[in-house]
Amino acid sequence: MTSPDQLENVVIVGSGPAGYTAALYTSRANLKPLVIEGFLWGGLLQQTTDVENYPGFPDGIMGPELMQKFRDQAERFGTRFITDEASKVELSDEPGGIHTVWVGDDAYRTRTVILAMGAEHKKLAVPGEDELGGRGVSYCATCDAAFYRDKPTMIVGGGDSAMEEAIFLSKFASKVIVVHRRDEFRASKIMLERARGIENIEWLTPYAPEEFVAGENGALGHARLRHSDTGEAKDVEISGVFIAIGHVPQSQLVADQLTRDGAGYVVTEGKSTRTGKPGAFAAGDLVDHTYRQAVTAAGSGTQAALDAEWYLRDTPQVDTPEELAEGDLAEAQWAPRA
Ligand code: NAP
Repeated sequence: MTSPDQLENVVIVGSGPAGYTAALYTSRANLKPLVIEGFLWGGLLQQTTDVENYPGFPDGIMGPELMQKFRDQAERFGTRFITDEASKVELSDEPGGIHTVWVGDDAYRTRTVILAMGAEHKKLAVPGEDELGGRGVSYCATCDAAFYRDKPTMIVGGGDSAMEEAIFLSKFASKVIVVHRRDEFRASKIMLERARGIENIEWLTPYAPEEFVAGENGALGHARLRHSDTGEAKDVEISGVFIAIGHVPQSQLVADQLTRDGAGYVVTEGKSTRTGKPGAFAAGDLVDHTYRQAVTAAGSGTQAALDAEWYLRDTPQVDTPEELAEGDLAEAQWAPRA
């Protein structure tokens, strides 16, 4: 049972590999976690097809099926779920203090919070991008490249992700056209050189996509590009485009409360998942702009669960919700957890 009146040990916000793995570990530690999993639970993997790089599935597994398994495994050990969005998070500054997570008007009070809201693919925000999603427009070559075997494709972006996607895609597609808005690339030299050495990767700079247009079959037919300097328009026929222009961490809920880096990722202490607020931990793509893999997110969810467990073990906590209701935390009877 879940009730806003109850004081929780752990509330987990977010439900990708990080959130569900944190739930698995904290439920197995008998902490009875509550996961605010959102309406579209399962994170970015819900939007992908075959996942062939998650260890333990030698034949691959569909992204949504993998996330269902994550969820089932956490549920088996007593995790509770609220399939709704967290609307507000209020983090305590005090060691042993109580954090509050709101879902609409319901306030869930908790001794620890694990933040695992993940990141979203950054969008170009041009016409046709949303409309042709799943019909030629994709954000993940490692997920969808096999659909474009022997077909002409495009990568948009000039960073390491774009190079990595281009290199991967080049093994499937007839050609990969890398479109970047500048002549200089942000990508590391080694990645750029590796991509430049591949025969079926072509380069089109400085151009930016202006529109994606459907062909006769209703799927992507061509991209309309615009030259960054001259303004010249150029139509390029392609069957698939992969947009790799970065990610946007979903850190808005804690924007005013936690230290974030320039790109909005939550900053954690050293190798831990500790944030600047005692009892608040962050994991997965919300903190990681480098690796961003399901398996690394799951690993960081494990770290957050262990950090939360150790915090609860080592930090004096007020013992019951009633003590809290009586008021002053400082005067409440501290009771270290066993
Ligand atoms: P990134 O380094 O921020 O690069 C984003 C690229 O997209 C930039 O070239 C940027 O152009 C372009 N871009 C951004 N917004 C755009 C827009 N609205 N329209 C057109 N182009 C746009 O992001 P990332 O490539 O995802 O890499 C993120 C981090 O992960 C980096 O630290 C990277 O090194 C790391 N990473 C490492 C590896 C690896 O080593 N194997 C693989 C992937 C990622 P401008 O350059 O003009 O701003």
